[in-house]
Amino acid sequence: MNSTVSLVRCETYNPDRVFKSVKEAFDLIGGISAFIRRGSSVLVKPNLLMAVEPDAAVTTHPEVVRAVVRLLKEYECRVYLGDGPSVWGGEADNLEDVYEKTGMKKIAAEENITLVSFDKRRWRGKFPLTRWLDECEYCVSIPKFKTHQLMILTAAVKNLYGFVSGTYKTELHRKYFDEIDFSRILVEIYRDAKPALTLVDGIMALEGEGPGTKGTPFRAGVLCAGSDCVAIDSVLTRIMGLKPKDILTTRHAAESSLGVADIDHIDVKGVRLEDVIGRPFKLPETSAKRKIPGFLVELVKHFLRFYPKIDHNLCIRCKTCIGVCPAHVIGMEYFSSKSFLKRDRNKNKYPFNIRINYKNCISCFCCQESCPAKAVMVRKTLLAKLAGL
Ligand code: SF4
Ligand code: SF4
Repeated sequence: MNSTVSLVRCETYNPDRVFKSVKEAFDLIGGISAFIRRGSSVLVKPNLLMAVEPDAAVTTHPEVVRAVVRLLKEYECRVYLGDGPSVWGGEADNLEDVYEKTGMKKIAAEENITLVSFDKRRWRGKFPLTRWLDECEYCVSIPKFKTHQLMILTAAVKNLYGFVSGTYKTELHRKYFDEIDFSRILVEIYRDAKPALTLVDGIMALEGEGPGTKGTPFRAGVLCAGSDCVAIDSVLTRIMGLKPKDILTTRHAAESSLGVADIDHIDVKGVRLEDVIGRPFKLPETSAKRKIPGFLVELVKHFLRFYPKIDHNLCIRCKTCIGVCPAHVIGMEYFSSKSFLKRDRNKNKYPFNIRINYKNCISCFCCQESCPAKAVMVRKTLLAKLAGL
């Protein structure tokens, strides 16, 4: 089996430049018409993890979304734009805030398209996914190219987790917290809700402690398109300096014959992959677990663990992490009125700290992913430190 993906250089979010590059990325793989019927209804799904400005490189840039929307409109499609962010939790105000800050509200108004909420769901396979997958004839996914604490890479396959309805996402995280189990869930969702077309925004990527604000924006300067999300992720993994099968979703999806992970069987159109590979991406601290030989993983995983740690000086007590924690182990610890009065209030103006009950923490790092203040650090067990992880 072979797959085709396109790889196009684009270093800036200048609207004209982005439009030309997105069009080129689609044309190289046969154009929109090869995947979508003219005049059909299309759900456009960017990665809108949280309510942050586009410069943070945490969410798909609005100019990339605009270019896709315009091309679909030129093709007489009816376009619906939406995502189910992890901080949403079914609250309309949260979603409004995400659409506002990420620039989607503005794009929807200027391009005269419908902004939708993923609040209604229908079971597809094993999961309650947004009804918009049924309401629309096609889906175009526009992920952001980012590192991820649990999965190492979030791009084409992982972006589809946003289809999972509201708080059920948290439930899945709690049930399948192990990265191997969680990657199988992501692959199942890909099987049930494969988009017709995917275009990855890798103009500004995110490296280090992604996928939230703790990550570091990095100019990768690429757009990557295709219909095989496994092949797209494989190409991106090579750009990061890794092998495709280092990413569990890629490995499991390829084993299930859902796509191509062998670079020799991926026809890359546009710029040559070798010309795009620069310095390796900085990986999340937790990815050091990859150094443990496979046969030892099960045996030592409880001793060589990574945990979140709250930096109380950076924490703004927004309580977002409390709402997203799948294991419900984050809470508030109020100071006694006496000790609060004694504190230096200029330095510490809050009457409580955020506390984690480590006993039941499942190390999913949803708290770090959703924290708007970069206040969640990675903490290692003593053995993990001694093992040099
Ligand atoms: S404290 Fe953080 S890492 Fe631990 S279970 Fe909750 S969200 Fe996951
Ligand atoms: S750790 Fe982050 S998400 Fe949690 S309360 Fe503090 S600032 Fe908010």
